[in-house]
Amino acid sequence: MNLDIISIGDELLIGQTLNTNAHWIAAELDKIGFTIRQQTSISDNKEHIIETLSNVLEKSDVVLITGGLGPTNDDLTMPVLNDYFGGKLITDAAVYNDIEKLILGRGFEMNENNKRQALIPDNCKVVRNAHGTAPGLWFEQGDKVVVAMPGVPFEMKAMITDTVIPWLKEKYVLPEIVHQMVLTQGLPESKLAELIADWENQLPATIKLAYLPSPGRVKLRLSSKGKSRAEVQHKIDEQVAKLMQIIPQNIYSTDNSNLEEVIGKMLVQQKATLATAESCTGGYLAHLITSISGSSDYFKGSVISYANEIKINELGVKKSDLENFGAVSQQVVEQMALGVLKKFTVDYAVATSGIAGPTGGTAEKPVGTVWIAVANKNGVVSKQFTFGKLRSVNIERSAVAALGMLREVLQG
Ligand code: ATP
Repeated sequence: MNLDIISIGDELLIGQTLNTNAHWIAAELDKIGFTIRQQTSISDNKEHIIETLSNVLEKSDVVLITGGLGPTNDDLTMPVLNDYFGGKLITDAAVYNDIEKLILGRGFEMNENNKRQALIPDNCKVVRNAHGTAPGLWFEQGDKVVVAMPGVPFEMKAMITDTVIPWLKEKYVLPEIVHQMVLTQGLPESKLAELIADWENQLPATIKLAYLPSPGRVKLRLSSKGKSRAEVQHKIDEQVAKLMQIIPQNIYSTDNSNLEEVIGKMLVQQKATLATAESCTGGYLAHLITSISGSSDYFKGSVISYANEIKINELGVKKSDLENFGAVSQQVVEQMALGVLKKFTVDYAVATSGIAGPTGGTAEKPVGTVWIAVANKNGVVSKQFTFGKLRSVNIERSAVAALGMLREVLQG
């Protein structure tokens, strides 16, 4: 079953309002088994609405429209749909009562605009609006359904959840859809694709694979549909198990937990504690770690050692090493990690030191050069990374790489 979403509103086209309606609707309708064929944003314009609706109705079974259902002159959706489906506008008593109750409840009198909103095409079903005055309209044309709803997000959401989804489930037999996320870290998208090419090529045609990259990580999404959720999940699980054999060290989650959650669970299991010493990440690493509820059980704190004197005085970094090798060096980052391990008496410590940019780079150490170290009672490991030129992305990638290294050490 294909579904189209049409978002109506000039404010969407000029970038004034972010189209969160289409985003939300797509996720909710995908969950119940529809294939979202296309999302279209259009202006409040009669010809444009008609043209778009006739086009998408040729290809989709269901069309959900939001916006332009209000009581003002720029709200055209109701009269346009009435013309399109050849109906006659008549006052709907139940809708009139709903609107009157709402308006009087807010301390106003019913005006002409409010009364006009109770005029409903006689060939549609009303989708009641529990939170506003504009009713939703459910039209059927053969096996196809077109639903118009107001643009106000909380009004539209309640209508979809309470009425539209139950009615769609009654009308159509929908498949079960499974989206399985496999979260990877430490491989750029192109390298990951190369490593898993054979696995990807042997995937059954019923399983679709998507690569979703973000700084330092790539999410793989495996999607499939079928009559039985258990069967679909089983087929996907078989493929995930094969993938685990190929890149075991890079997969950190198959239940959508992020890296900081995964690390938190490992530290809790090992009853171990953690501290950070941060230069280029400036506390961002500690922020990620402490964004997990319960992190106080394992995270003791951080030294944000941005200045050299803090590295020396608080972490015991040798002044001579700073002078000889620079703050962004293996010698310094390892001393930072060992320093905070001792200072906070923790089991694990992570340190970062790098040139986030855009200034501060040299020919030898360009912007994006980052050293990361992880220390525990057995010693310290460190690694150099070369990221890009964008400051915020470098900070994000440094933190993700640091969490990735910590995960490897926690795994032994
Ligand atoms: P009403 O006129 O009764 O408010 P309406 O159906 O005419 O309802 P619009 O005028 O199109 O709705 O939009 C009302 C408000 O809802 C807009 O100001 C905007 O903030 C928000 N809105 C509209 N469309 C969207 C959308 N696609 N995504 C997110 N917000 C939206």
